[in-house]
Amino acid sequence: MKLPPFGLGHSLYRGNLHGHSTHSDGVFSAQDVVQKYVDLGYDFTCLSDHLWIDDKFAATSVFDGRTLDRKDFITLPSAELHCYGKTYDQDSLWHIVANGLPLDFACPDANETAPDLIARAQAAGAYVSLAHPEWYTMTTDEAMQVAGADAVEIYNHSCVLSSARGSGITIADYLLNEGKKISFTATDDSHFELPDWGGGWVIVAAAELSQNGLIAALKAGHHYASTGADFNDLQIEGGVLAVHTTPVDSIVVSGEGHLALACYGKNITAAKFDLSEFRSDWFRITLRDAAGKMAWSNPYFIGSLK
Ligand SMILES: [Zn+2]
Ligand SMILES: [Zn+2]
Repeated sequence: MKLPPFGLGHSLYRGNLHGHSTHSDGVFSAQDVVQKYVDLGYDFTCLSDHLWIDDKFAATSVFDGRTLDRKDFITLPSAELHCYGKTYDQDSLWHIVANGLPLDFACPDANETAPDLIARAQAAGAYVSLAHPEWYTMTTDEAMQVAGADAVEIYNHSCVLSSARGSGITIADYLLNEGKKISFTATDDSHFELPDWGGGWVIVAAAELSQNGLIAALKAGHHYASTGADFNDLQIEGGVLAVHTTPVDSIVVSGEGHLALACYGKNITAAKFDLSEFRSDWFRITLRDAAGKMAWSNPYFIGSLK
């Protein structure tokens, strides 16, 4: 059987799930942000401006970008939600990205907790991800509090450039080891002060290029995350995983604990892994090419593949 995002009969769409405009603390207007992503050849972007009570860096309303949509490019109403209670953050703030929010989603107040905020965003229809866990040292205890989120941002381009703390893979693996079914995102978190756009994105297999189509696909995990490498096909038959990619130098399959299988070479485009003895309830695949560009599959849960 093919593994998502392949084998669904859907088109693949490239998009940024996390970015800012002058609606909050970004440098460019929403119109200019959209033009940047159109010029990069993206199919969609998210104007996930900060939604919080502090107007020094945040807005108190979700930005309405509908007039910026074109025939072959859309924006998803989104926000980076904040609330108090985060340790190891100088402002004690959580950062939670919600994609596909209703435009009237209410600004969080000083009393709302992170788990409640995540649940409220999901109840409103959003795909919710834990932003830049490494950037503000998310602890494992904190990760368990917010494990109801749909996804972990495992790559944040702006955090890589601004603080060399752009990963989220350790927290993602922790949640997977704890049996949580999360998916992965790679994002820009573009503010445009730094060259922080076009660095991390998702490739989504959706029935149509629409808010409903993309959010349903993301919630189903029908996507992968990338900084430049690509999966071309993923299949599993009789316990053997077949991976087809753009030219890369390593293909690694990771599972629970320290379990991993690796294939190395020069510009390899295919590898097979026998998972019949792989003692893990889940596996995920990571690519790295000669230039260091990467791609991460979502985790696949063995029990749901049968
Ligand atoms: Zn943030
Ligand atoms: Zn942000």
